[in-house]
Amino acid sequence: MSKRVALYVHIPFCETKCPYCDFNTYARIESLMPAYIKSLRREITQWGAMLGRPKVHTVFFGGGTPSYLPSEDFVAVLSEIHQAFQVESDAEITLEANPGDFDKAKLTAYLEAGANRLSIGVQSLDDRLLSLLGRRHDAAQAVSAYRLAREAGFENVSVDLMYGLPHQTLDDWTATVERAAALEPEHLSMYCLTLEKGTPMEQWVKAGTMPEPDGDLAADMYVVAEEKMEALGYRHYEISNWAKQGLESRHNLAYWRNDAYLGVGPGAHSYLNGMRFANLRPPKEYVRLMESASTSKAVGVLDEAAVRSVRVVDSVEVIGRRLEMAETMMMGLRLDTGVGEEAFARRFGSAMEKAYGPEMAELTQDGLVERADGALRLTARGRLLGNRVFSRFFAETADSTA
Ligand code: SF4
Repeated sequence: MSKRVALYVHIPFCETKCPYCDFNTYARIESLMPAYIKSLRREITQWGAMLGRPKVHTVFFGGGTPSYLPSEDFVAVLSEIHQAFQVESDAEITLEANPGDFDKAKLTAYLEAGANRLSIGVQSLDDRLLSLLGRRHDAAQAVSAYRLAREAGFENVSVDLMYGLPHQTLDDWTATVERAAALEPEHLSMYCLTLEKGTPMEQWVKAGTMPEPDGDLAADMYVVAEEKMEALGYRHYEISNWAKQGLESRHNLAYWRNDAYLGVGPGAHSYLNGMRFANLRPPKEYVRLMESASTSKAVGVLDEAAVRSVRVVDSVEVIGRRLEMAETMMMGLRLDTGVGEEAFARRFGSAMEKAYGPEMAELTQDGLVERADGALRLTARGRLLGNRVFSRFFAETADSTA
């Protein structure tokens, strides 16, 4: 059983649904909130009991829009987590928030309950692009929300931005990066827009009413972000993330290091004891099943049967050794530190060279990865062509668990 876990808490509510978003999140289901919070607390209690109240080193409230919840609900859920798990005294506790959804009283309640990191969905500081993204805030509101978080006392704030948008020019992007960096957040995440299947934005592009995002321009935007952030002293510690030294997202580092995590709430994913599993996605169904769930006892070993006994778990995949190796490479290569050769050997009892000699040689020759400081990591070119690199480690994993 994993000794310590990163805990993800899914909040599936948003005031409106952004046209590019395919997350498991919904608008106009607010009436479900009270029952949802009850069910979520129940699932937290259930997992805490089953796992024998393990240590938790990070808690991440994501969604959805956690800041859309009444603050009492956030406080109640966090208090349940403290009862069900041993939350380490220096645990990172993050909450995602959208400008316009919170005021000072809410922020104070979050801080008093123990939240110590706020991740604000700014996305752009260009009003025209914010409206194209269907966001409910404008640039001035985003800046005010950021300042409010500072005034309330948040000392660790992350800002999310998006690039590669239809109608976005290199100048628009440069101005947004400069204005966001001028706020001096501890952390910035910058994501390229992906046209997700079935979203309104994908339909608009298909129908020709919105231009297709330009991939080459998006790559230029990425390079601009890299240059600006480096000049400002941020560490580009993951493909899409920059942080001031020591203020990397500890929660996301658990994902990138392929460490144990538990997700609660509809559609949440977990990775525990060599199994990846996911809860069913519809919030109403989640509530219905959790309402009739029985209480759980500690399990000696968390095996597939134990995971499947949780009523809201919808799918379980047992991760074989070869797949775990490939996932460790894929996730770890996203980090600037790459995958340490010693850590790899410790985890798998086999040298990286032995497991991936031909892949490493080929990718090195193509200038996509390099070996340095006892680790394999992406080059600058490799960061732009990450998917090409990652796919090399997945050949032959489908039927091999050796
Ligand atoms: S606020 Fe975030 S989670 Fe909600 S719909 Fe928009 S992008 Fe999706």
